[in-house]
Amino acid sequence: MSRRVVIIGAGFGGIGAAIELRAHGYTDVTILDAASGIGGTWLANTYPGAACDVPSHLYSYSYAQRRSWSRLCSPQPEILDYLRQVAREHSVDHLVRPDTRVSAVRWDDEAHVWHVETDAGTYTADAVVMATGQLAQPSIPSIPGIDDFAGHAFHSAGWDHAHDLTGRRVAVIGTGASAVQFVPEIAPVVGKLSVFQRTGNWFLPRKNMRYPKPAQALLKVPGVQRLRRWGLKRLYLESLTASIRHPRTVGPVLRLKSQIFMRHQLRDPEVRRKVWPDYTFGCKRVLFSSYWLPALQRDNVEVVTDSIERIEPDGVRTVDGTLHRVDTIIWGTGFKATSFMFPMEVHGRDGASLRDVWADGPHAHLGMTVPGFPNLFVMYGPNTNTSGGSIIVYLESQARYVRTALQEADRRGAAAAEVRPEVEAASDAEVQSKFSGTAWLACDSWYRDATGRIITNWPGYMHEYEKATEAIDPSEYVWLRHP
Ligand code: NAP
Repeated sequence: MSRRVVIIGAGFGGIGAAIELRAHGYTDVTILDAASGIGGTWLANTYPGAACDVPSHLYSYSYAQRRSWSRLCSPQPEILDYLRQVAREHSVDHLVRPDTRVSAVRWDDEAHVWHVETDAGTYTADAVVMATGQLAQPSIPSIPGIDDFAGHAFHSAGWDHAHDLTGRRVAVIGTGASAVQFVPEIAPVVGKLSVFQRTGNWFLPRKNMRYPKPAQALLKVPGVQRLRRWGLKRLYLESLTASIRHPRTVGPVLRLKSQIFMRHQLRDPEVRRKVWPDYTFGCKRVLFSSYWLPALQRDNVEVVTDSIERIEPDGVRTVDGTLHRVDTIIWGTGFKATSFMFPMEVHGRDGASLRDVWADGPHAHLGMTVPGFPNLFVMYGPNTNTSGGSIIVYLESQARYVRTALQEADRRGAAAAEVRPEVEAASDAEVQSKFSGTAWLACDSWYRDATGRIITNWPGYMHEYEKATEAIDPSEYVWLRHP
């Protein structure tokens, strides 16, 4: 088929979309990525201990299952290898144009095509798939004095492997999912580690040991792998979502498990007092680690809960006046999740800017389509992040939805699909209403914008999203004619 599709992003979303489209006859696909190759977040995040925190049998494409994962949650190199292999096996690896940064995408009202402007020239496309993700842009807070620091500083998503941490005095700022993985790795190596925590987390146990040989053999028995994936998806992970959706009934069950585990691990009363979370279970991402709390209780590790006042040449000054002298700062401060594809310029029909359309917060029908932006599909867009599921399940659903949109356009001989404004508004209102009464609304988190609206997460279960996105509903769209 002759439709030209440009996919922006060569991570799990973009590669999955390309595979889906190619498998259904859309051969004219180009994948652009600013990075040096395939991988997305798994190319950028190479920090010590980096691994997925969703079991690999689910954190993988349904059509490219592996029985050879080394652990429940695979380490980053294994995931990156997997993604590269799958791209090769499905012959989409050669579609990737690495080191190509997109600056703007503009809809051409006359020709009914998109112009995708990059630092390597302009591509013309009938459809654009924005697979840039929510966790691609590292966030470093603007703390006063940050540029005065005389030591070395880097973000967890840009780990400086050339900087030997042995014996150093290190500050880690932030205690989210990334820090929880790398702190236990570096704590035994550094001289002194100061962990700056703003908010404590809820933890559940995970040792993530290598699968023993019998378990690996069992997974090779026909049917076991499929059953395992089904169980992980429908029982294990959806139960975490249930605990967040129902903080008064289901939530306390998992919270109790977390409390018992944390109480058992937190032998030091001072550290226990400092790290114990003071918000509803599930409001922020629940973290899985059996190594974090013990690491915080090492002799060479200090948990600092006083707010940071400023960064000075010799270290981090907290509001109590203490200067925490360090020679290295590692920012574990997460990502600009709500920036989505920006600062890229996205201009739709009549030159409308997506930035303006989203001035009061991003929203899209099923997280993917926006009125005024024909044949522009966002993957991992607004309200499609998951606290309790596998993002790969969402990305596969989105790839399928995009494919059905193009197929429907072909069937109708249409140039493009544009979601009806009233459909998008109604689905946004429905998504927002589903947050009511859930744990997500019980604290501040990176899921929310300045107004408190949740703009990153899906409020339901994985299977609900899969069902909602099974195929495009033609009545929800205006079908633009070819000029
Ligand atoms: P994060 O969860 O957003 O954590 C950022 C941390 O930095 C939080 O502890 C935050 O404190 C702190 N922080 C932010 N600004 C600060 C400031 N000005 N002063 C002091 N502390 C500050 O980031 P992340 O750990 O990189 O994880 C982001 C997301 O990536 C995760 O939620 C997850 O979805 C994904 N992830 C997944 C994996 C995995 O699969 N294994 C691993 C890593 C990341 P507050 O809590 O107070 O805001």
